[in-house]
Amino acid sequence: MVYLDSYYFAGKTALVRVDFNVPLKEENGSFKITDDTRLKAALPTLKKILKDGGNIVLMSHLGRPKNEGENEKEGKGENKFSLKHIVEYLKEHLNTEVKFVDDIASDKALEKSRNLKKGEILLLENVRFYKAETKTENPAHEEFAQKLARHGDVYVNDAFGTAHRKHASTATVAEFFERKNIVCGYVMQQELDNAHKVLENPERPFVAIMGGAKISDKIMVIEKLLDKVDALIIGGGMAYTFFKAQGGKIGSSLVEEDKLELAIELLKKAEEKNVKIYLPKDSIAANKFDNNATTKLVNNTEIPDGFMGLDIGKEAQEEFSTVLKSAKTIMWNGPMGVFEMSNFAEGTKKIAEAVIEATQKGAYSLIGGGDSAAAINQMNAGDKVSYVSTGGGALLEYLEGKELPGVTALEG
Ligand code: AMP
Repeated sequence: MVYLDSYYFAGKTALVRVDFNVPLKEENGSFKITDDTRLKAALPTLKKILKDGGNIVLMSHLGRPKNEGENEKEGKGENKFSLKHIVEYLKEHLNTEVKFVDDIASDKALEKSRNLKKGEILLLENVRFYKAETKTENPAHEEFAQKLARHGDVYVNDAFGTAHRKHASTATVAEFFERKNIVCGYVMQQELDNAHKVLENPERPFVAIMGGAKISDKIMVIEKLLDKVDALIIGGGMAYTFFKAQGGKIGSSLVEEDKLELAIELLKKAEEKNVKIYLPKDSIAANKFDNNATTKLVNNTEIPDGFMGLDIGKEAQEEFSTVLKSAKTIMWNGPMGVFEMSNFAEGTKKIAEAVIEATQKGAYSLIGGGDSAAAINQMNAGDKVSYVSTGGGALLEYLEGKELPGVTALEG
């Protein structure tokens, strides 16, 4: 793989795939960025290219624009998904001219990228305004990728968050560059390095914490982790399927009826592999899915009818924290409860505190994107853990051992 630091960009135009999929909020007709984590993460890569004396053509997706309908025209999408709302941010943070173009596969756009002056940036409109971006079976897919490739002398992929997708801008485009001109950006490099830290020779004990809504989303990674970890903590909504499978009473808590057998199998596999599984002993149960619901602290195998577990209880918090504090490697994915509601956020917060304490004592901690990253960021604690991944789904697939097309493309 060619890494950014070993490439000199002077006099070159770099076509850079970034992950600028940031949340936007409309205010008086203009769109404001409400969380710039992903933009901030991309800046070092862009600065390095500019410092070398190169130009940049940026491409990204933003949101999930619909372009499926009969009347939808390729390249057209809703204003709320437009990348033009990012232009000012880039100008401000990179101190350079940032141009924007919407008809990104056209000759007009190509002229714009060819006319960039040294140190200038051209931001392309949302690549997902084109069906050909995501639909590999679409006959126009290859041609679209080739047209994108015309924008640069060198291709840099820094979008780890979409590396699990075989899209035109994340993978196919690389086919039109010589191997020596396909470069791995800093974000991508960091993400891969950090995933390797937990996959290869982690310091022991290695404890993984899995939470969130469903087992079905995380089953593959849980199975894979059983080969790696010493202990696995399971919290969040997915825990109740395990209790029900074991014959417990879970009231109206979240359950995946079709995964009961699977839950038992997982527990068996863990035992065979000598992996200790920790399920929460108690829960904060509520009479409705509402922050102002009536709540009670309950034992997890005896949740009364009409009540649902929405957060882990005190005993679980303490047990999980004790296990985490003695860990030397930690991987965390998924909240312990419905942390978006303040009355059910305490369990997730306590777990975050235990991860931070373990890190301070020398453990390596990887926070696996999505909601667990949001919880750590909410506490302004991103710098108190070893690494907060920017790619939820991509990281999980990587940990599962799946091939990521965006990474394979970089390997040439
Ligand atoms: P995931 O995307 O699978 O990591 O799931 C995250 C979501 O799981 C969050 O939106 C949480 O609100 C939700 N969640 C966590 N614990 C529970 C629970 N006990 N009941 C229902 N939803 C939960």
